[in-house]
Amino acid sequence: MSRKMNALVKDKAQEGLILTQVNKPKPKHDEVLIKIHKTAICGTDVHIYNWNQWAQANIKPPLTIGHEYVGEIAELGENVKNLTIGQLVSGEGHIVCGHCRNCRSGNAQWCKDTKSVGVNRDGAFAEYLCIPATNVVPINPDIDEDVVSFFDAFGNATHTALMFDVVGEDVLITGAGPIGMMACAICVKNGARSVVVTDVNDYRLDICKKLKATATINITKEKIEDIYQDRHIVEGFDVGLEMSGSASALNSMISHMRNGGKIALLGIQDAKTPIDLNEVIFKGLTIQGIYGRKMYETWYKMSAMIEGGLDLSPIITHRFNYREYEKGFAAMNSKNSGKVILDWSK
Ligand SMILES: [Zn+2]
Repeated sequence: MSRKMNALVKDKAQEGLILTQVNKPKPKHDEVLIKIHKTAICGTDVHIYNWNQWAQANIKPPLTIGHEYVGEIAELGENVKNLTIGQLVSGEGHIVCGHCRNCRSGNAQWCKDTKSVGVNRDGAFAEYLCIPATNVVPINPDIDEDVVSFFDAFGNATHTALMFDVVGEDVLITGAGPIGMMACAICVKNGARSVVVTDVNDYRLDICKKLKATATINITKEKIEDIYQDRHIVEGFDVGLEMSGSASALNSMISHMRNGGKIALLGIQDAKTPIDLNEVIFKGLTIQGIYGRKMYETWYKMSAMIEGGLDLSPIITHRFNYREYEKGFAAMNSKNSGKVILDWSK
């Protein structure tokens, strides 16, 4: 068997990626080699491609990037039990220490020594990926592989959307990127009274309409309060999911929450983003930061929701062979996209 494989590599500290041959990884005793079928492009991958400030501070080339994928087990390390060759899998992208307080108390998403696949170690935009067996997540083969390819991102959306009880609640989602879209679908599925999504991009808001958002608001043309009367929202929103990383969206969310409302923050803000803390205090708001997925409860919820009829297919807007990765990144950079999938199987 050839020990070389194709991979998308950030080879130099500059914009872009190259498709090149790298060594195929060999699983250690406790690791699993996954043959990649499909991958999806995350906003993080776009940051790395574009070589923005965050990427310059966090990525050390050469690195194979990518962390959203579906594939099958190709090889097992000699100590790996309970997994089989050929099994359909995805995987948790955070490789945690297993020893710190949070790891030991079942909150490994808050591990103090976490390492990310495709960021701090070689990733999934390749023909093969090697990860610890504990990170491998077996997948029901009845689920569409295109959807499984972005389970990592779906996990962020699930973790955020399920942080607070949305049953019968009015939910405000700021940011209609792919994770905001998925959060919209999840809240609709899970019985929210209304799901209102804001963004500046009509293409993305239109996908939220397909996902049965109660209302979508392009904040360059409309105001959030315009829908209060129509939706009989009297005191403000009960639950807020901030997905945009925009300071103005966050501040507008805070002012549109009812007293006692709860906000989950996923969108990464600029350093030292100002918010009115007195509004948080006097309204008794709860603000919860969200990182990654609950390990591994979120993964079970994700599969269960899909098996229960949650349809994320409207979010997939582009499909390319991995050799056409430039088209994929261009689609992502255009912002007129949902999830962009790269096929590694042929
Ligand atoms: Zn840890």
